[in-house]
Amino acid sequence: MVNIQKSSQLRKAIFLDRDGTLNEDPGYLSHPDQLKLFPGVGEGLALLKSAGYLLIVISNQSGVARGRIQYESLALIHERLDQLLTPWAVQIDFYQLCLHHPDEGCECRKPKPKLILDIAFELNIDLSKSYMIGDRLSDLEAGIAAGCRASLLVKTGDGAKAALQIEQKSLAPFVGESFLAVAQWIVRDSSHP
Ligand SMILES: [Zn+2]
Repeated sequence: MVNIQKSSQLRKAIFLDRDGTLNEDPGYLSHPDQLKLFPGVGEGLALLKSAGYLLIVISNQSGVARGRIQYESLALIHERLDQLLTPWAVQIDFYQLCLHHPDEGCECRKPKPKLILDIAFELNIDLSKSYMIGDRLSDLEAGIAAGCRASLLVKTGDGAKAALQIEQKSLAPFVGESFLAVAQWIVRDSSHP
């Protein structure tokens, strides 16, 4: 649990894309056995947790609406994710998921910021002290639209492709070769006011 000295004190969070950022993205990951963490993810999450951040997954899971993923499997997949993280004694604090099909035009699918804004309101999170990490432009855009201090790109998953796309845009102040590199950048960045 997060140590809160005063109830009025705002918390801070790292918003995390899941597939392609924390774990390999096989496309509509539907079974816990498919879950494979990228190197450096456990260490990076532990570093961020020890720096006082809530760890919140923000994920589009349209596979549910598409009939490619059973809703009940999501809990098992996230249980498995926590299991895989036990060597680093860290867990994901919350999951915010969009289960809609893109054609539904919902309000929560990234790049829209609603999933971030809703949980920030609910948990009293200071977005100006919080960060988004992802491997796609839609992740970066959601973090920016929500008012996060910064959105960071990791070059796992689709990240190498996205890194080329953002060269001319100032979407991310840092692009990491690994999740751990991004986590270390955040810890350094947050030490400057
Ligand atoms: Zn949605």
